[in-house]
Amino acid sequence: MSIYSGPWAQVAYRTLQPLSKAKHPLQAMLDEWFYNGNLIEYSTANETCGLCGHEHLKFHFGITNSKTENELFVGSECIGKFDLSGIGENGEYLDPEKTKQKVKRDRDNLIKDNKKKRALQCLILLSRSDTQFDFQKTVNNFEEKSSFSPNQLALIFSRFSAHKIKYKASDFKVSLRRDRNKLQLAGMNERKFLLIRDALSPSQRAYYWDRIPQRI
Ligand SMILES: [Zn+2]
Repeated sequence: MSIYSGPWAQVAYRTLQPLSKAKHPLQAMLDEWFYNGNLIEYSTANETCGLCGHEHLKFHFGITNSKTENELFVGSECIGKFDLSGIGENGEYLDPEKTKQKVKRDRDNLIKDNKKKRALQCLILLSRSDTQFDFQKTVNNFEEKSSFSPNQLALIFSRFSAHKIKYKASDFKVSLRRDRNKLQLAGMNERKFLLIRDALSPSQRAYYWDRIPQRI
């Protein structure tokens, strides 16, 4: 079904008409809008799409009308629904295909940045609360090396719990690039493994489970 018929088109038509220079048809209004690179990730999925009214969104993408300069914040479905041009890093024009790639790139980068920010906040809290271990170096290294060895992360998570620091395991990453780290993971007991499981990628989890016969 074309996007120019059906319920989405009706809502979009009504929303965009007062905000656009063109008043008809929908395509003429849509053509005036571009992705402006404003992208927000919210901590809870409570936002509404400014274009279609879709609720419970965690992300908002900013679009601007090139004629009226009106701005709308829309959800990930609407941002991919119609051919939208955009602006590149150096202010250059991006065609719809390049814009789609930029939207995806921006979103991936934002998710990564926000994960890192949240992880850093937890680590800073830990370095201030924990007297048994010195986590200051961990904080200092984190900026540069944002992943941990399996044992390091297991220790960090257990100390988070000891200090009742709320954390999201998936905000943290484990690196298995060194052989030493691979050996750590392969030799872990299940209790320790379960502690860091949500920080592991699917292939890292598989790496652990595949080595069960060696541990028994
Ligand atoms: Zn929408």
